[in-house]
Parts: sequence; structure tokens; C-alpha cells
Amino acid sequence: TNELMEKIVSLCKRRGFVFQSSEIYGGINGFWDYGPLGAELKRNVKELWWTSMTRFREDVVGLEATIIMSPDIWRASGHVDTFADMMRECPMTRKRVRADQVDPVSGVVYRFTGAKAKATGFTVEKAFAFLLKKGEHPESARKKAKEFYALGSIDAGMKDLAGIELIGEATSAVENSVDFHPESNVMLSEARPFNLMFKTYVGPVESEENVAYLRPETAQAIFAQFKNVLETSRQKVPFGIAQVGKAFRNEVTPRNFTFRSREFEQMELEFFIKPDEAIEAISGTVAKPETKGHPGEPQSNWGWQMWHQYWVEERIKFYDNIGLPRTTLEEYWQKPEELAHYARATVDLLFKFPFGTQELEGIAARSDFDLSQHERFSRKPMGVFDDDLRAAWAKLDDVKKQELTKRYYEARARYLTKTGMDSEKAAKKAKEDAEGLAKGQYIPHVIEPSAGVDRLILALISNAYAEEEVTDDKGKAETRVVMRFHPRVAPIKVAVLPLLKNKPELVAKSREVFELLRREMNAFYDDGGAIGRRYRRQDEAGTPFCVTIDFDTLGEKPELLNTVTLRDRDTMQQTRVKIDELLPMLLQRVR
Ligand code: ATP
Repeated sequence: TNELMEKIVSLCKRRGFVFQSSEIYGGINGFWDYGPLGAELKRNVKELWWTSMTRFREDVVGLEATIIMSPDIWRASGHVDTFADMMRECPMTRKRVRADQVDPVSGVVYRFTGAKAKATGFTVEKAFAFLLKKGEHPESARKKAKEFYALGSIDAGMKDLAGIELIGEATSAVENSVDFHPESNVMLSEARPFNLMFKTYVGPVESEENVAYLRPETAQAIFAQFKNVLETSRQKVPFGIAQVGKAFRNEVTPRNFTFRSREFEQMELEFFIKPDEAIEAISGTVAKPETKGHPGEPQSNWGWQMWHQYWVEERIKFYDNIGLPRTTLEEYWQKPEELAHYARATVDLLFKFPFGTQELEGIAARSDFDLSQHERFSRKPMGVFDDDLRAAWAKLDDVKKQELTKRYYEARARYLTKTGMDSEKAAKKAKEDAEGLAKGQYIPHVIEPSAGVDRLILALISNAYAEEEVTDDKGKAETRVVMRFHPRVAPIKVAVLPLLKNKPELVAKSREVFELLRREMNAFYDDGGAIGRRYRRQDEAGTPFCVTIDFDTLGEKPELLNTVTLRDRDTMQQTRVKIDELLPMLLQRVR
């Protein structure tokens, strides 16, 4: 799998998908640039997300907020206090390591790379033998040994005892010299939180009160602008706000190519829904999922669980639509003990990357935590008035009113105490909120599908990469590298190729066809080299169609006048198509 990753990284550079940022100065760790093909691929993906979210839906609107915002936003969201990894620092080398990568007893640092392991002769076979000796089942020992060797870290889902011991074993093999001074005992240094937000100053004075942060996620701007959007868009709960944009995290160990970067892009939706108590008051019942799968068109009596499941399925559908079939994804429902304290449920959509199965997107049911936090910190009301609720409430009998008020009161009190409010204050505020419900007022709950653009690009590239044995035009066997992108995301949709470049009539006709196509889709003109070579180049770029203009196009065989060959990337089949029919045929296949 490491080998596959190396091939992918090398193709990305060779063909201009991804370059190391600042490469001419030796690069900068955790930052990546997208070259000509990568930039097109990324634009296509973002465009598809944006149109599927906003243009194709009546209940989602867009937002484009700034990267630097009031630091109060990050206090309210909890990022200033808690968005941190625990770190230990080597007193001699000043190098830092994540605290969970240090063995509490021996002080051994559980971090080393596959390359270092290779250098010291620590092989997959040794890892396998070690795990067997520990009583691991041969099947899982083999899997673990490989995974461990490829990753060289406990991130590989190796947090169990055998995994940790194995890493200890391998780490002593590299004599514990990775980042820490061999004589320093890291357990003397205390574990300290290391905030992942990038800091800067706004204005000329570098003082504490001018500190600002680069946003570590795009979501918070949506909450902060919730009221403005609600008031200007004529939307009513349930509705969503979508945003695409850069996010920054000073990750301690950026790695796995673009998978974990320090600057990356997110596509996030916050979908605001009514609290279950309001739905029950209006509809009499709250619909909950009975089976897994798509619950169909949204209904007014859907509770948060239905909405959550709906968005999980909508997101899988999206991936399926752009060439990551359901079979390439895994749904991971977080266990209660893994959930963030504000989350009611979270589903991670995982993709099998060559370096392991890892998170592509998280879909979280976040209750009313975010808006409540902003209400507390900004002292601006975040609740909405719901006419349907007010009208319905008036018709409820007293028993029902009491029951719903009590439930809402308890939910609010629970949230408020969880966020550290003292119980007396929390009880008072919860009572006010519960009285609000009777007047048709509540703080909306939210379902958040949050996806990383760069991870998705890497998933699409990994999934598209294929090598095939084929015979070239001289009958010789060769390996063809082909990127099988779905035509919807492919950076170049069609290449236009004159059979020969030194025949003016061929060139003139080819330019004519190229002009016809390029207005409607990203087309590429290539007249350099043998036609077979040019096809291979387009295969590597993932171009789904090649159009070749030859002498028959010019009428050498009169019945073929004004026809071209259309070559399919995947089957390599060529068909003869009339120039008049080319554009509609291609448009149908790339949209
Ligand atoms: P991880 O556990 O991998 O650090 P996370 O759970 O912290 O990710 P979220 O905060 O839920 O991630 O962010 C939502 C999405 O943003 C992730 O699913 C991922 O696609 C993307 N993302 C987060 N951190 C990074 C990063 N450092 N580089 C690239 N993409 C990222």
C-alpha cells in the first residue's frame, strides 16, 4: 500500500495535480498547492457540492464569510479553551510530541516512520511474528503488521495493547532517537495543551487584545450569521446554510500527503431543525427512523434522528454521484463514549485510502449547542419565533403542554449545566426557555455534514488510479496508467487531437472542433507526438474522451466526411461520430 501511495504522489507531481508548497525553497510541512489538473478537479468538486446543496434545493442557502473573525467567536465555540492536543516537549531538543505517543511507563516515543523502520531492519515479518507471539489471531496479526508498517504510528487504529507493544518494540529498534534526545526522559516534562489555531494580530500593535485566529473550521461563521441569513433569505426552520472555504489547523503531525494538512478547505452545511418538543406540539408525533437507509422526502414531523439519517444518506448519494460508489465508503457510527459532549450522534464516512481507512466527512447531530453558546457569549437572542408552533400550542390540552414544557426544560437545563453554568442559574434560564416554547419560540437544533475538500480530492485520485496491461499499436505489451475519474469531476473532459500536426487542413479542422467544444466544457488541444502517446497522456490525466481528426474527417472516404473518432478512456473503444452530434453527445455524458 505504501508503494501505491508513492505512485500516486509521484503521478500527482508529474502530471500537475498536486505540488509541494514553496518547493523551490525546500517546501513547508503541511501545505500543498494544486497544479493545473488539480485546480480543475477541485473546482469541479466544489462546484458540484455547491450546486447540489444550494441550487438544487429550496431549503439551503449559501454564505461566504471571512477567514479572520472576532476572537469571541472562538471563545463561544470552545476552540480557544479546548481545541488542543496534549503535548510533551523534549527539554533538550525542544521538539514536541503528542502526549498519547509517549508510553507512560517507559517514556518511549511511539513515533517512527516506515522508512526508519526499514533502515533498522524492522520488517513486516518481524512485526507479524511479534504479534503472533502475543497471541494475536494470525489473520488480524497479518493485517495489523502491514498497517503498522505502512503508517508507523498508533494512528492506524492500533491503540490496543498489542499495537502499542509492537510500536514500543519497533521504537526501541530505532533506539528512541526519532525526535527526542536519547538522554532526556520525556516523562519529566509535563503534558501541556497545544492549541491548534493559527494566531495573528489585527492592526499594527502586537498586543494581547489584538490577537485573532485563522478559522479552524468554516462552521462557526454560519452560526454567527444565523440571524442575518434567517432575516434576509425568507427561509423558515427547517433550512440550511452552506459554506465552502479555507480552514487552518496547526496540526502537530501533518501527514499522509494532503490528508492531514495545515491549510485545507471544507464544505460545510448547518441544517437547522425544530427541537423534537416543538415537532410533537405541531404534528402530534415525532417520526424516528425504523430502518437504516434513505428515509425519502423530508416530512414536517421528522425529529432530529430522521434528519440525521437523511443527511447521512444524502451525503453518500453525493459521493456516489461523483464516482465514489457506496462500496468504497464505510459508515462509522460513533459510540456514546466517543461523542463530543454536545453531540447526540455522529456518523463518520470513511474511505479506504491506501494508507488506511480514514475519515472523509463527519455528519453530526449537534443539538442546540452552537447557537446557545453564541447566545450566551454575544448576549444576542438566537431563538426563532415559529408561527406554526404558537398556533399549535394554543390547541394543546394542559397535560400535553405540561409534559412538553417539562421535557424541554430538562433538555435545556442539561445543556446549560454541561457547559459549566451553576445549577441555580441554569435552572432559571431553562425555565425562561421553556416558557418561550409556549410562545412559539426555541433555539433551533442543527445537523452538520462537514466534509474536507482536500481529503475528497485525495480519495477521488486514489480511487481513480489504475494500472493495466495493454498492447501498444506495435503489438508490444505495456502498462497503461489510467485515472478513471467520473466524467463529472474529470479535470479535462475532452482532448482534441489532429492526427498529424504538419497538415494545415487537419489542423484547421481540429481547431474548429476545439473551438466548438471548449465553450461548453474544459477541452484540451494536443498535437505533439505519436497519437498513441497522446492517448496515454490523456489516460493519466483522467480525460474521459479523446476526439481525433484524421483524413477521413476531411472526406478521404466521402461517406466519413465531417466525422471524427471518439475514443473512450476506459474501454479504449473508438467510434465514428458526426461533428454535428459531438457536442450534445459529450454534454450528456459529462453532466
Ligand atoms: P481528524 O479527526 O481527522 O483530525 P476531525 O474529526 O478533527 O478530523 P472535523 O473537525 O470534523 O475533523 O472536520 C471536518 C472535516 O474537515 C474532516 O472530515 C476532514 O475531511 C476535514 N479536515 C479536518 N482536518 C483536516 C486537515 N488537517 N487536513 C485536511 N482536511 C481536514
